[in-house]
Amino acid sequence: MTIPGIHHITAIAGDPQRNLYFYTGTLGLRLVKLTVNFDDNGSYHFYFGDAEGRPGSILTFFPWPGAYPGRQGTGQATVISFAVPSLEGWAERVPDAVAGRRFDRKVLAFADPDGMRLELVETGVGSGTEITGFQGVTLSEAGYEATARLLTDTFGYTASGEDGNRFQFSAPAGDVVELLCQPDGRRGSMGVGTVHHVAFRAETDEIHRAWQSKIKALGFNVTPVLDRQYFHSIYFREPGGVLFEIATDPPGFATDESLAELGTALKLPPWLEPAREDIEERLPKLVLPKYGR
Ligand code: ZN
Repeated sequence: MTIPGIHHITAIAGDPQRNLYFYTGTLGLRLVKLTVNFDDNGSYHFYFGDAEGRPGSILTFFPWPGAYPGRQGTGQATVISFAVPSLEGWAERVPDAVAGRRFDRKVLAFADPDGMRLELVETGVGSGTEITGFQGVTLSEAGYEATARLLTDTFGYTASGEDGNRFQFSAPAGDVVELLCQPDGRRGSMGVGTVHHVAFRAETDEIHRAWQSKIKALGFNVTPVLDRQYFHSIYFREPGGVLFEIATDPPGFATDESLAELGTALKLPPWLEPAREDIEERLPKLVLPKYGR
């Protein structure tokens, strides 16, 4: 049993409209699901991804207008990296881009409107310049060995690079987790502009249940299987402090609207549907992106 790669990453944003404009407009991702935070239905939950909303391309946000900014630091995912076939034209497209190189790949670093750190990594695979999904994620950790062991011995990742205090691990699907070992780093705190958790894929519900048992048997404080409407989830904190989730590929985002209609209307899970009128009344008004550009 191995983890194929990243399923989705969830972060906290400030202003919902600004977040929506940046990720669909500037970065060209698709809003694949517009729903609410199931644990706090007074706020949105945005899911951005590729055209089909495939696992491995999904970045989700809880936009909390007026919430406190977080502090980036250890115990957190501090950089989200997107894969692009080519970086051509991107330096002009994103704000204050800084070009660099890492593990032999061209990288463009920048931040989103809430200060969350992002990167585009040139893969040279495929055509065009648009984002194809995650290239990976960087976790800042006070130590790294226990997390490295979880990735290699449990998840089935391969150690694929090392550069100073940076250790890279590759998933079977090709995306990476990079551990940045910062023993003197300040611990991060949750808030606007920080990553909330990183979710990894399980191909089926059966495999997912097996992961729940395995993670529990390893001594992690893992949650029961939770229904997230578009996937099933378990959560646990990895040894470096980052909240990890394992999420199922099925049923996916086309379970309550067609592929063509993904993200065009507010969707609620069955248990919140009776309260739709109240929920819509309380949510901030939004201008949704137009597709078919
Ligand atoms: Zn999640």
